[in-house]
Amino acid sequence: MKTNIDQCIKCSICNAYCPVLKATGLFPGPKLCGPDAERFRLKGKPIPAEWLEFCDYCKICERVCPHNVRIPELHIRSRIAGKTPKPSFRDWLLGHSYLLEKLGGWGTPVSNWINRWAFFRWLLDRGLGIDHRIKMPPFHRQTFTRWFQRRKDFKGTPIAYFHGCYTNYIDPALGRDMVEVLEKNGFRVILPDQECCGLPLVSNGFFAGATRLGEKNLKSLRKVVEGGIEVIFSSPSCGMTIKQEYDSILHIPGASILSEHLSEISQFLLRLHEEGKLNTSFKRISDTYYYHAPCHLRALQVGLPALDLLSLIPGLKVIELPEGCCGLAGSYGFKREKYAVAREVGEEIFQALRKRKAKVVISDCEACRMQIGSQTGVKTYHPVQILRQAYGE
Ligand code: SF4
Ligand code: SF4
Repeated sequence: MKTNIDQCIKCSICNAYCPVLKATGLFPGPKLCGPDAERFRLKGKPIPAEWLEFCDYCKICERVCPHNVRIPELHIRSRIAGKTPKPSFRDWLLGHSYLLEKLGGWGTPVSNWINRWAFFRWLLDRGLGIDHRIKMPPFHRQTFTRWFQRRKDFKGTPIAYFHGCYTNYIDPALGRDMVEVLEKNGFRVILPDQECCGLPLVSNGFFAGATRLGEKNLKSLRKVVEGGIEVIFSSPSCGMTIKQEYDSILHIPGASILSEHLSEISQFLLRLHEEGKLNTSFKRISDTYYYHAPCHLRALQVGLPALDLLSLIPGLKVIELPEGCCGLAGSYGFKREKYAVAREVGEEIFQALRKRKAKVVISDCEACRMQIGSQTGVKTYHPVQILRQAYGE
């Protein structure tokens, strides 16, 4: 159901929580940019287009609004209706990051060398508007799917894994840990055919392309689900896109049916534990780690299952960082005009880590791990990677 702007009671709670409004005077806040400006946009009155593009799509405003006004959806709806200028070539590249990741993987080690070359970074900055300060992660020739294909078959209850592009091309170690943790619990992982979830295309203004990818994913995942197999994902942003945006933003027929068969990995493992089925033969980890809860995990409304799971590891103390957005928001923080805003958005988290001299941060989202790691220099892991360590060899 479309969100209704008349539901807004002007309480401004959304403004109080919006991290971008706190970070920059260039964004008027969710209340003004959302339901207030929508009245003008619907009548064709001129409203600054850049307001819409300053929203980083963290969905915090939607979560805190007491009257269920889905402000990010209003922003996207206006962008779909052409209220912002056509996306640039830079936005095309960032939206199609899955193609760049594939290309980068094929081209290693040359692609990694070029990626680190200061002149190349300067060209990207001056020529395209991709900020030279952003630390781009290295590509891997051995993708997760290539590793998986060479793996011996494992007998167990089948479970389907939507790994997403980042795990496949940039962080294949996470994919390997996911498979090993699931096997420790008696599951046989299968990889359904899958494309990029489409979120980078949505946030860069390529809605038709996102719909095409979404339709392909839906077809493949539906086949799996109809065969009685549950689907799990390790990226909250991919999961949120499939569970929520395919239906509410992209209007892909049949998308809502899939939603109840898709689970976030920590949520899934915690459910196993509640049913007494989780393998809890964890080794001791005598250390203190920090945990950052990603905005898109909170948008899934599953609580913070990783914290409960990690509390099962003997000796491990996990401290939750101050609630907030890390700022990167996919490709948002890569853009030259947004880089400083993105850094300011996450500053409270970075300061907390510097003050406590943290060495390890756990977070479920790849963008959060990338931003926290590059802004503070701490090591970052997905919760499943800590579980994998606790299982030992
Ligand atoms: S929190 Fe919701 S009801 Fe309050 S101003 Fe924002 S959109 Fe309106
Ligand atoms: S989605 Fe996030 S950045 Fe956008 S208006 Fe809402 S709170 Fe602000």
